[in-house]
Amino acid sequence: MAGNIKLEVVTPEKQVVDEETQMVVAPGVLGEFGVLIGHTPFMTALKIGTVRYTDTSGQERCVFVSGGFAEALPDKVTILAESAERRRDIDLERARSAMERAQRRLEDKKADLDFLRAEAALKRALHRLRLAETRRT
Ligand code: ATP
Repeated sequence: MAGNIKLEVVTPEKQVVDEETQMVVAPGVLGEFGVLIGHTPFMTALKIGTVRYTDTSGQERCVFVSGGFAEALPDKVTILAESAERRRDIDLERARSAMERAQRRLEDKKADLDFLRAEAALKRALHRLRLAETRRT
């Protein structure tokens, strides 16, 4: 079916995307999935990863998401994430510092280490760095 599907990416702080798209691809916990107009409605949890979409001019756009939930309706995809930012808005220095901080915590293994929290912070930082590396100069 031809036509555009609306994408909204929302965090507790801000609306990151509110745009008509040709297609949305998102990192579901059970695997990456793609949504076109007319898709059967469903909901899924998301992993740390990249939401990709094709805008109405055919350009591919990328948005980092720190996990969350996606709701797909026939004409709209809504993504709720704890944090999210467009690829172009990723601050490389900040992501590098977050990576080093998390690595240090995991290496120090202090008695009060919250392992899962440090591991999740490391995953977010590594993913942001990887995604930012694919930016066109
Ligand atoms: P940090 O320790 O640097 O805060 P974090 O992974 O704990 O990293 P999050 O909790 O995922 O950060 O995000 C908090 C807010 O900061 C969100 O609004 C997110 O979009 C933004 N943010 C975090 N890291 C970056 C980054 N490297 N570039 C741009 N925005 C970022």
